[in-house]
Amino acid sequence: MQFRDLQKQYEVLKPQIDAAVQKVYEQADFISGHEVKELEQQLAEYVGVKHCITCGNGTDALTLVLMAWGIGPGDTVLVPDFTFFASGETVAYEGATPLFVDVDECTFNLDPDKLEEKILEVKAQGKYNLRAVVAVDLFGLPADYTRIEPICKKYGLLLLEDGAQGFGGAINGRRVGSFGDAATTSFFPAKPLGCYGDGGAIFTNNDEWAALIRSYAVHGKGSMKYDNVRLGVNSRLDTIQAAILQVKLKAFQDYELGAVKQVSRWYDEALQGSGLVLPYRPEGFTSSWAQYTVQLPQSTDRDALQAKLKGKGIPTMVYYPKPMHQQKAFAGTDSAAADCPVTERLCRTVLSLPMHPYMTREENFCVANAVKNND
Ligand SMILES: *Cc1c(COP(=O)(O)O)cnc(C)c1O
Repeated sequence: MQFRDLQKQYEVLKPQIDAAVQKVYEQADFISGHEVKELEQQLAEYVGVKHCITCGNGTDALTLVLMAWGIGPGDTVLVPDFTFFASGETVAYEGATPLFVDVDECTFNLDPDKLEEKILEVKAQGKYNLRAVVAVDLFGLPADYTRIEPICKKYGLLLLEDGAQGFGGAINGRRVGSFGDAATTSFFPAKPLGCYGDGGAIFTNNDEWAALIRSYAVHGKGSMKYDNVRLGVNSRLDTIQAAILQVKLKAFQDYELGAVKQVSRWYDEALQGSGLVLPYRPEGFTSSWAQYTVQLPQSTDRDALQAKLKGKGIPTMVYYPKPMHQQKAFAGTDSAAADCPVTERLCRTVLSLPMHPYMTREENFCVANAVKNND
């Protein structure tokens, strides 16, 4: 059994994917081919924003937004403590200081009350210029933007949605990628919408930022590629990846998103009453199910359970074993000082189960039973 079965997906989509990449080989326009523009239009339309700018990966996508906002030394950005490293790494790499905020124990996402507390604390302290908030759609569930957006507005902060895991998710029909002032996603193969290598995208309704990001992504280009008006980076989505993503986006919309929702319901049913805390979805929220993550009782030996499951051919993952503020990379900096007991507990108790659109009912049943019986 695969944790996320990309081989099965390829089997199903092989004719279309092979034809799409073959076409790119024949055209030989491997960088910025027309497939890239087409994909950007399709993604912008799906998400419901004016601009989509594709780039090299989800980490670059975050970096490009921070660059466009001019975030750097002396600035601080608030980031959830329970997330993938890139959400905070990119802030620090730009020379700013990420400060970590605890998450909600049910949704795993940024806790709006703690966010506001932290904003007041940082402002009162006066050490940093508080500029922005990064909210992450962890495991596919959108963060609580109904509360986070007004809080950011109230304090004049920019809001960046890290939707690397959330593509396809929504709140009352409003899709991931459309929240905050700008949003990003990742097309890393195992993400909800993945390509066959690295890829990422930025979404925004702001014309000025969109133009700046397009410039930063291609060596700070001006009117043309060899007119360089600022220092930038080289971060583009390959034409081959764009061609693959066009095929995958269609499958994603047609049935994959529906299929993962079905798998999540099977898990919910099978694991009811098992003593595990199952993933919570607030009313009106749709998850893209990047992960199906349960919380084990504190007394469960997680390593032993994972080993037993592995023995039965069932792969599981721990996302994430360490809070951001405890990462060695932040040791000795202000980022290391954070009060995040919920994240600390989650890092000890979470377990992500196999989850993908091609999982069968039988496979699901087998995983659920093994987890439930702890054998
Ligand atoms: C995967 C991920 C990223 C980074 O995406 P890459 O394409 O791997 O660079 C950023 N944030 C979160 C929350 C992620 O899960």
